[in-house]
Amino acid sequence: MTHNFSDSAPAPRVKAGSKVLPIYAVTPFTMLDFPERTSCIIWMSGCNMRCGYCHNPQIVKGKGRGTVEDVMAFLRKRQGLLDGVVLSGGEASVWPGLPGFVQIVKNMGYDIKLDTNGTRPDVIKKLMGDDLLDYIALDYKAPSEKFKKVTGIKKFEAFSETLDLLCKQKSVPFEVRTTVHTDLMDEKDITTIINDLNLRSYKGTYYVQNFCSDNNRPTLGDLSPQKRALDISALPTPKDFDMEFRNF
Ligand code: SF4
Repeated sequence: MTHNFSDSAPAPRVKAGSKVLPIYAVTPFTMLDFPERTSCIIWMSGCNMRCGYCHNPQIVKGKGRGTVEDVMAFLRKRQGLLDGVVLSGGEASVWPGLPGFVQIVKNMGYDIKLDTNGTRPDVIKKLMGDDLLDYIALDYKAPSEKFKKVTGIKKFEAFSETLDLLCKQKSVPFEVRTTVHTDLMDEKDITTIINDLNLRSYKGTYYVQNFCSDNNRPTLGDLSPQKRALDISALPTPKDFDMEFRNF
């Protein structure tokens, strides 16, 4: 799940097999998505959210097009050539087969990065407990009072549990990020998130990503281009973490 997908659009289609099709597509190579690793991106189909700004309605709502076997064949060919695998989507953590799949990919020698909306703390906990994750990118979609408006679901508590879990551990590096479309979120909302991250003693980098209209590609919520960009000069300075702004 990089949820604005501006710099890594799904590329070649994975050949469909005869069994379950949890994979939408594979991007065979990127140096941008997994810090300090060359990697591929596996785009899982299906998501439990319905973010209005999502540029991938076909991934969120559509059926997969590739089997696990298709992807394993691809990964066997790339063994020793790529450092890591990024699990994106869609939302990989809602796929029941994820833990078993990650175990197999990890055993092949790949590092694993998980992009997640954080609504399955039980899955994250299990993967971390089994030492299967090397990096996590967690979307902080919105403050609790706006969470349903932005994502379509009431799952702030579950997200909050994941954020707590990550902030209280030191073994797996992680980043927190928010995509902003100013029809949905404003400076006050980002300030609320910064204050929350301060309270939780977050120590990493907080990325604020400007919604990218992406050549008027349709969004899940049929959002129009933003009438204004977020005023980043109006945001407070975080206590103990860095902030970076993307696409501003
Ligand atoms: S609906 Fe939201 S969480 Fe799901 S893939 Fe799109 S942007 Fe990500």
